[in-house]
Amino acid sequence: MKRIWLAAGFAALLALGFAITRGDAQPNTLIAPGVWFREGDLVNQEHCNNVIIEMKDYLIVVDANYPSGARLAMADAKKVSSKPVKFVFDTHHHGDHTYGNAVWTGEGAMTIAFQGVADEMKRYEPARWRDTMKERKDVADMHRDTPEPPQQTFTDSPHVITDGTRRVEFYYFGWAHTRGDGLVYLPQERVLCTGDAAVNGPYNFTGDGNIGNWPKVLDGALKLKVDHVLPGHGGAGGKEILVGQRAFMIELRKAVQAEASKGKKLDDLVQTANGKPVAKLQLPDAVKTWVSAESLPDQVKDAYHEVTTGKAAGDLPH
Ligand SMILES: [Zn+2]
Ligand SMILES: [Zn+2]
Repeated sequence: MKRIWLAAGFAALLALGFAITRGDAQPNTLIAPGVWFREGDLVNQEHCNNVIIEMKDYLIVVDANYPSGARLAMADAKKVSSKPVKFVFDTHHHGDHTYGNAVWTGEGAMTIAFQGVADEMKRYEPARWRDTMKERKDVADMHRDTPEPPQQTFTDSPHVITDGTRRVEFYYFGWAHTRGDGLVYLPQERVLCTGDAAVNGPYNFTGDGNIGNWPKVLDGALKLKVDHVLPGHGGAGGKEILVGQRAFMIELRKAVQAEASKGKKLDDLVQTANGKPVAKLQLPDAVKTWVSAESLPDQVKDAYHEVTTGKAAGDLPH
């Protein structure tokens, strides 16, 4: 259980290495008319990214973020538009995407998500919220025993919100990063917001995931006409984020499978040096954006459990 926070810590460490010059969140970047990308401060605050989508009379925000991230995203939304935030879409249940829910609903927004997000919350909460309260002041300061679940959930995919000026489609393609991964697609603008089903950098947490099924989810995303990919972590980009993220999951599983079929044990693949886990596995250069020495050991462990048990990593006790 501690591992998820450890993974976040590693991601933060890593981001430091990669973006030593960039300590702060990137301010709103205009992606298309009325669509802004806000890169969260992963390094210092473990915030996720947000997307602000302008409708005729209101705004839709992608991801609630942590409470402190929610307040920053809210302030940024006010900078780009005087319209109220009506909907906040939780891409998945992780704290960096949902623990700010009550901040948004307190300001009159409605939180929405696929049913799988609420189900995952029931599965893992309130244990994770209570652990996080010990680590994060913004979560402790909410004075709640448990995270606020999304207020409205749906199971139809795509779930569509449209008001005549813009069409927003919410897709569920299956279990990748979590059982509830929702993606947001703007067909006219060819913009896809992926949550953590696709990230732009070595930020993949696989503990609640399904590495074997992950590429199929991205196959679904790749069927959409996409010019802009706005990930849950890391910078904005294009389709190459989907392609690379998909390849990473395939190569990870393939490399682990090859070693396991040679009789290698987990202890052979993940060793310890100077008190730190080290993955004894080489992945192709083509996926190096998604690989880091800090995050690979846990990913190898999860992939190893998947190939040897035939179960998804997230289905195993953790
Ligand atoms: Zn995240
Ligand atoms: Zn996540």
